[in-house]
Amino acid sequence: MILLNDFKRQWTDTGNEVLECVRHVGESGWYVLGEQVAAFERELASYWGVSEAVGVASGLDALELSLRILGCGPGQRVLTTAVSAFATVLAILKTGAIPIFADCCNNGLIDFESCRRVLDRDRNIRFFIPVHLYGHSLELDAISRLRQEFGLHIIEDCAQSIGAAFHGRSTGSAGELAATSFYPTKNLGAIGDGGAVLTNNPEHAASLRVLRDYGQTAKYRHDAVGYNSRLDELHAAILRGVYLPRLNGWIARRREIAKRYREGIHHPCLCVPSAPSGSESCYHLFPILAAENTKPSLIAHLRANEITTGEHYPIAIPDQRVMAGLSFSGEFDRARRFCASEISLPIHPYLSDDEIEQVVGACNGWKP
Ligand SMILES: *Cc1c(COP(=O)(O)O)cnc(C)c1O
Repeated sequence: MILLNDFKRQWTDTGNEVLECVRHVGESGWYVLGEQVAAFERELASYWGVSEAVGVASGLDALELSLRILGCGPGQRVLTTAVSAFATVLAILKTGAIPIFADCCNNGLIDFESCRRVLDRDRNIRFFIPVHLYGHSLELDAISRLRQEFGLHIIEDCAQSIGAAFHGRSTGSAGELAATSFYPTKNLGAIGDGGAVLTNNPEHAASLRVLRDYGQTAKYRHDAVGYNSRLDELHAAILRGVYLPRLNGWIARRREIAKRYREGIHHPCLCVPSAPSGSESCYHLFPILAAENTKPSLIAHLRANEITTGEHYPIAIPDQRVMAGLSFSGEFDRARRFCASEISLPIHPYLSDDEIEQVVGACNGWKP
């Protein structure tokens, strides 16, 4: 079976080095917020091209803590996309704020025209979380324009876009803060949970360091209602020692696979959405769209050909059951249609050339 993510192959490649990191941290006798986290933060910031990285417990926390330090709380209104991992909106809900949705484009990414309409109608929106979905970079200039025109605080959700750029500029550089995730499936995935906030603002970084550690400004001095949201020494050691050095190679492989899928997959009932122009994508996922009502048939056909598929995401966020009791508004008709037809093909860096051809052949041989 061709898997969406093949962690066993990754372990075969990296396991011995990972175990060395575990031994190193174990022998150091220091397990939380020590030299591994500090060193990983420096190396990640340098990889990203920003001055500060702050490790936290997850991508969700990276978003929530970022909203908190920018002053987002109960009653505030936060613009975001109707198509994303639910965590994007969960972070907003957890601060007590109200999510306001913008619709997506044909490629599933947030539509800036829709953003503008929603912002024009609702002048109380102070915060914006654009999501660089699937490893594509949104047009960073469009984000900057909205920021200036509407006076928004912006946190870019870069959980899927580590290593992606827009005309050479890293995603995350148009807002005040960028949040990313080291959930195992992400392009830089840990063996467990982790996340980070990236910024060029040292005051923001300092506030995040206080908030992630019980709101402590010094040992046993609590100045804010904080969190326990720390990145472990173990994960930091593994990420910096084993995975970060491989990241560019992995992204290069993802790009080769995406290129082959784009060139090879041709079917009248399949649409392969294009990347936004100017995006140097890191291909966290590879979504394709099946013609109306044919998605179950395609999933079954690929499964019969030993290919696992994913759905990112099957339900638009405003349609999730938990949202029914909550206050929100916005535009999301296209998001609903997009979610009804989206299927994700395997695009992990350990796919073999033969497996890539198997995926292309199976897509082209599908009889809906
Ligand atoms: C994975 C993801 C998150 C949440 O990250 P976790 O580390 O799982 O909390 C947030 N936003 C997007 C777009 C994601 O893909």
